[in-house]
Amino acid sequence: MNPLPPVITSKKEMATWSESKRSLGLTVGFVPTMGALHQGHLALVELAARKSDIVVVSIFVNPAQFGPSEDYESYPRTLTTDLEALASHSVAVVFAPNAAEMYEDRLTTIHVSGITEPLCGASRPGHFDGVTTVVAKLLNIVRPHLAVFGEKDYQQLATVRKMVKDLDMDCLIVGAPTVREPDGLAMSSRNTYLSPLERAQAPVIRRALLQAQELAGTNTPEQVERMTRETITRGGGRVDYCSCLNALTLSAVTDFSSPVVLATTVFFGKTRLIDNIVINEKT
Ligand code: AMP
Repeated sequence: MNPLPPVITSKKEMATWSESKRSLGLTVGFVPTMGALHQGHLALVELAARKSDIVVVSIFVNPAQFGPSEDYESYPRTLTTDLEALASHSVAVVFAPNAAEMYEDRLTTIHVSGITEPLCGASRPGHFDGVTTVVAKLLNIVRPHLAVFGEKDYQQLATVRKMVKDLDMDCLIVGAPTVREPDGLAMSSRNTYLSPLERAQAPVIRRALLQAQELAGTNTPEQVERMTRETITRGGGRVDYCSCLNALTLSAVTDFSSPVVLATTVFFGKTRLIDNIVINEKT
């Protein structure tokens, strides 16, 4: 077995380590995660490794992005198996601070307006402020040349891109395609919460999104949203939202003339799963 990657828990030590690599002229790629790693996360690590000299992975379950009734306490924490999974990938160091180290006595929040308002922004108030604040902090500590985020969390990726652009942060944000189980279910750390029945039902999300792509040729966004909801509901899911939005600005659309993201969040029991598809994507 490959040796486990070294773990740094202190912000200061992480910053010093990164600076020492940058001063050698090495490019640093960064993959922020909340742990409970699966193949989706590992694909991000591989992409970062292809695009940079060394890769830093952070593992931090960020309390600031969970609502009071969400699963912060029960979120899976599996540091040892995560390190084992990363051992077979080219990871130079894992940054795994605890919440007290990350936040101390914080009074500052980063808020991106507009694109954070629909979708998860509407159903999880404060969520994106938690995301942007922790990502800004992580980028300031790790100082990577590039950071990789998954397209599965479409609104998160769009929001981080906007923050980095608006704040002139010197980091390239790279999007990575969603990695799926063989039956189409997007890999997620939360899939472990699903009962066997819910796990069998959950691939309906992907089937409904693929069907939506077909329906977009002859239907309005509103009709596509309705039919997608119906398919998911018939398949046993409880739809939180299911919306067609402009793929760049996340504003409302009335037709499919430009790229549109159809994003959905679906509950199976208490488990909240998210997925999306881009329709008319320019290639
Ligand atoms: P998380 O640990 O859930 O916060 O996710 C960390 C990063 O992994 C985020 O950029 C996610 O978008 C990305 N990610 C999560 N699941 C997948 C997946 N199935 N495929 C690709 N990237 C993913």
